[in-house]
Amino acid sequence: MSEEISDLVEGVIDGSISDADLISWLKQVHSEGISEADTIALTEAMRDSGETLSWDSEVSELIVDKHSTGGVGDKVSLILAPALAACGLKVPMISGRGLGHTGGTLDKLESIPGFSVELDSKQIQTQVLEIGLAMVGQTERLVPADRRMYALRDVTGTIDSIPLITSSIVSKKAAEGLSALVLDVKFGRAAFMVEQDKAIELAESMVAASRGMGVATTAVLSSMDAPLGCAIGNSLEVLESVETLCGNGPSDLEELVCIQGGLLLHSTGLAEDRDSGALMIHDSLHDGSALERFRMMVKAQGGDTSILDSDSSLMAGLGLIDSELNATSLCVAESGWVCEIEALSIALACQRMGAGRLELGDSIDRAVGAILEVQVGDRIESGEPWITLYHRDDIGRSTVEGLIGSIVLSDEELDSGSRIHEVFG
Ligand code: URA
Repeated sequence: MSEEISDLVEGVIDGSISDADLISWLKQVHSEGISEADTIALTEAMRDSGETLSWDSEVSELIVDKHSTGGVGDKVSLILAPALAACGLKVPMISGRGLGHTGGTLDKLESIPGFSVELDSKQIQTQVLEIGLAMVGQTERLVPADRRMYALRDVTGTIDSIPLITSSIVSKKAAEGLSALVLDVKFGRAAFMVEQDKAIELAESMVAASRGMGVATTAVLSSMDAPLGCAIGNSLEVLESVETLCGNGPSDLEELVCIQGGLLLHSTGLAEDRDSGALMIHDSLHDGSALERFRMMVKAQGGDTSILDSDSSLMAGLGLIDSELNATSLCVAESGWVCEIEALSIALACQRMGAGRLELGDSIDRAVGAILEVQVGDRIESGEPWITLYHRDDIGRSTVEGLIGSIVLSDEELDSGSRIHEVFG
């Protein structure tokens, strides 16, 4: 079967397999599934369908990356990559754009004036060796098989197949020549996988495929019901990321960054265990070393580093000081303890205001978005704002109506707990 799979992937690339035959195979995998061994074979063949990054033996053990299945306010990559570089790892991070209600790392980075996400493989390698990280978009030559397969899956209703998702995601990460990978698999109302059981199945499948290709892989299962951190929207998320790189980030965001970084530092042998690794990441956020790596990356990729010199230059540089940007705060009618904040409806409101796209070619407005004034577990008094929306023109009735019921209060104080439900170490 492995040989049949590699022949099929070869046919995807050289065009010898027709769309009709490929669709029929995709539908068969979608309805019947394939074995773990075949999923590994498929992932490997897809990885090898194009260019891959290769690293000299002195650094190859240090090459790491992360992948998240996507969420609302998920800006972990922007913080984790420089923190890992500050701790001695090398991160050739290839990311995507936002689509639907979830944001994309590339769109966020492009809020920084001048910042380019278009580097070729040689430039990625040189930059990673020099400063420890690069955050870029996928080149045409990386995993070309996925491009054709994904486009056909998209129009044939075959996206939601665990082996097809696994091979699509893991092949692209494995093409970076990784030694270790951490996956953040989310479940909940605003996640790609709503059901926890399905998210566990996906996590186990991705871990098995990635390990099957020799990459030391761990995963975190985290909830995505409320937004991560307080900022939603491209520029606002960069602002919150820089605050977190200065040691002033929200605790749920910092926790997720530290745990994923700790797992990678342990996987590569730079930390004795994942807790000491998490502490190293924590220290890099509080001693300025992660911020310094972020600054080096902004400079290397053509961005304006002067925006990092003060809070006001950061706000201005990110386009957040703009007389055409209006702020509208929504207030609660009663007092109570915040027990739920609905990420999905907030993401849809932001998308409607222009922060996200419905189709991949749509343009976006990087400055619009939302800031949560409270998080789950906080106390709020009647008449106080729970969210501030940053928008152009009038806010629009449907946007405000879409947020009715998006915050749920309780009379009793509750433990906000951790978003992290399980670690596949
Ligand atoms: N993201 C990908 O890159 N591929 C999938 O199949 C699903 C999500």
